[in-house]
Amino acid sequence: MRALAETVWPELVDRPLVLVPVGSIEQHGPHLPLETDTLVASAVAHRLGDDLGGYVAPAVSFGASGEHQGFPGVMSIGTDALRHLLVELVRSLSTWAERIVLVNGHGGNIDAVDTAVQQLVDEGHDVQWVPCSVAGDAHAGRTETSLLLHLAPWLVRRQQARAGNTRPLKELLPTLRADGVRHVAPNGVLGDPTGASAAEGKVLFELMVKSARRGL
Ligand SMILES: [Zn+2]
Repeated sequence: MRALAETVWPELVDRPLVLVPVGSIEQHGPHLPLETDTLVASAVAHRLGDDLGGYVAPAVSFGASGEHQGFPGVMSIGTDALRHLLVELVRSLSTWAERIVLVNGHGGNIDAVDTAVQQLVDEGHDVQWVPCSVAGDAHAGRTETSLLLHLAPWLVRRQQARAGNTRPLKELLPTLRADGVRHVAPNGVLGDPTGASAAEGKVLFELMVKSARRGL
């Protein structure tokens, strides 16, 4: 794996694979950084890049996070803008890259990523997307806290970690979509970070990488 932004153009191999992490800047409870999804997507992209011999592009950090907009810190560009950004980015990349893989770390981006890829495939580009997914709680709970304790423990405010709304996401979704996350979870957590650990995060991360690799 090579970091695309650190290279110089004559060193680029001919028609390479490029992985593009797609994340978000949005609240992840009182204990996880705003860039949580971007960090996870970048880490998965780096592992895939190592395995497949590709470059990892700088992350698309701004995503579609409208449901979190009730919290300070959120930087959302919305589905339309994200779709458009990804379409233009891949068209540009395609002039010199053979294949492009978008590695998506935020559920709210799925509409944008999926419709962008459909359009780009129709245009003849070799592009696909893979999710960073693993079974667990929905947002800033045990799953994401464990992942961050594995990937970037210095950014986790362990003492601030508290349970949020622990009801199943399916039950919460209608209210969450209509009124936003803050309405159902005032601290921004959907799940319970209690019991999260770096060891569990390592296992979850490996599962995530494995499932992403299966999608390629
Ligand atoms: Zn997240």
